[in-house]
Amino acid sequence: MKKKLVAGNWKMNGTLEANDALVRAVAAGVKDASCLVAVCVPAPYLAQVQMLKAGTPLELGAQDVSPHAQGAYTGEVSAAMLREFGVRYAIVGHSERRQYHGESDALVAEKAKTALASGITPIVCVGETLAEREAGRTEDVVKRQMAAVIHVNGHCISEIVVAYEPVWAIGTGKTATPEQAQQVHALLRKQLAAATEHAERVHILYGGSMNAANAATLLAQPDIDGGLIGGASLKSADFLQIVAAANAASR
Ligand code: PEP
Repeated sequence: MKKKLVAGNWKMNGTLEANDALVRAVAAGVKDASCLVAVCVPAPYLAQVQMLKAGTPLELGAQDVSPHAQGAYTGEVSAAMLREFGVRYAIVGHSERRQYHGESDALVAEKAKTALASGITPIVCVGETLAEREAGRTEDVVKRQMAAVIHVNGHCISEIVVAYEPVWAIGTGKTATPEQAQQVHALLRKQLAAATEHAERVHILYGGSMNAANAATLLAQPDIDGGLIGGASLKSADFLQIVAAANAASR
């Protein structure tokens, strides 16, 4: 069985002082983890977290990456820059970036490609809004978002991580049921399998109000290979309880 992956998404939260306590506690708690664990932190804190996690299995992630290699792109952070800070993962296409920053499927696909070219694993987020779910369009939406990434990344697609994050479940306390999540994960796996013979290798994470209480049942689903955790990743005890559920499911 492949190891589950638990990735925290701090979003735009943190201070030097708070990060210090949080990362020390998480790093100590994952020393003997049997799953993979990462924290995706705001860019200004990459150096701090890189130092704090040194010598532990905790991996470092970013929350975005520029599709450009370098040059006159004010405000952007390149994949090569992220690599210099030991970044292993970069979230791309989070619904907050699609919604508030107008990111298109094509841009998300380019970002995934740029990350891969620099040895960073993109965590590609897909997911439907509540209106789309209620209109019966969940399958169409996630397939369209995924198809763009497959189209641009070709056979490298087996190197990505996918996060299914129903928009209506993010930060709302409303979680998809394990059955709802599994249904979408299975269709994403099938879509990947049509593009690569290594689809089983791909981690497909669930994200959307995953917490200590619901993690175990979600992670018990056959196609749920881990979680992308927002709010609960900001409290070490909550995050480590999710890691413990992933450890149990990885054995
Ligand atoms: C997220 O932002 O990726 C997320 C899943 O948030 P939350 O866990 O707070 O719903």
